[in-house]
Amino acid sequence: MPADWLRPVRMALDAREQAIDIFFRDDDAGWDDDRLYALLECFRDCNIPIDLAVIPEVLSQSLAGSLLGRWRRNPFMLGLHQHGYSHNNYENQGRKCEFGVSRSEEQQFKDLLAGKQQLECLFGLALDRIFTPPWNRCSQATADSLLKLGFQALSRNRGAAPLHTGTLREIPVAIDWCGIRIKSVQPWVALGQAITDVLYPEHPEPLGIMLHHAVMDVDDLEHLQALLELFREHPNTNCRLMREFLEVRQSTDAPGRSCPLESQAVLTATRSCLI
Ligand SMILES: [Zn+2]
Repeated sequence: MPADWLRPVRMALDAREQAIDIFFRDDDAGWDDDRLYALLECFRDCNIPIDLAVIPEVLSQSLAGSLLGRWRRNPFMLGLHQHGYSHNNYENQGRKCEFGVSRSEEQQFKDLLAGKQQLECLFGLALDRIFTPPWNRCSQATADSLLKLGFQALSRNRGAAPLHTGTLREIPVAIDWCGIRIKSVQPWVALGQAITDVLYPEHPEPLGIMLHHAVMDVDDLEHLQALLELFREHPNTNCRLMREFLEVRQSTDAPGRSCPLESQAVLTATRSCLI
């Protein structure tokens, strides 16, 4: 492993005046369970929380049971939310999309509802009301349907085409780990630089890192572990679950609820107690 690929990341963190919120979103839970478990072990060993975007149609009973068991043992280290319905591509041309413009709102609503019901049945209260569309792409009809179904947040790429989202929050990812690694001649240097670029400006938005366990090998996990250890140790990082961003906003928006700092303190304290 190149020893210095994290050096610019560390320098960027050192240079920050304020801590940055960070989250990890792993997509495609339901595919390649063995690799998913390896990724979850990596996060558990490093004591960093992780959000899983779960494909309803391919989720097995055994995986659902295992994930729910992990959530029950420590709900502050694992987030579970819906990732499309079947992860099929319905576009005949252009970029792949399950919830694209070629599908009507009625078709989209039907799939979103079916997926939501399946996951609610398996996960119950452990399911977060967050939606990640496959390939990070969806249409206005998707956002409209998500609002009708009571979702609280949509997660796509940072810089995705704007949608009218109403009360639906956006929790975008900024880094595509596997995309950068596959496209680059010097993948780890490129990944370190991409993360550094997001850290340098005093950006108030969280740093979201997208993973795809099904295409991550041992080399990926070794590098990821080094990054997680840096984030765990550095004073200018707060690694969180995606749902925590909703809790902070709700507390801020609703007078009379607990103060956001207090909620965060409780979350952090509880997380430490459960380790
Ligand atoms: Zn996906």
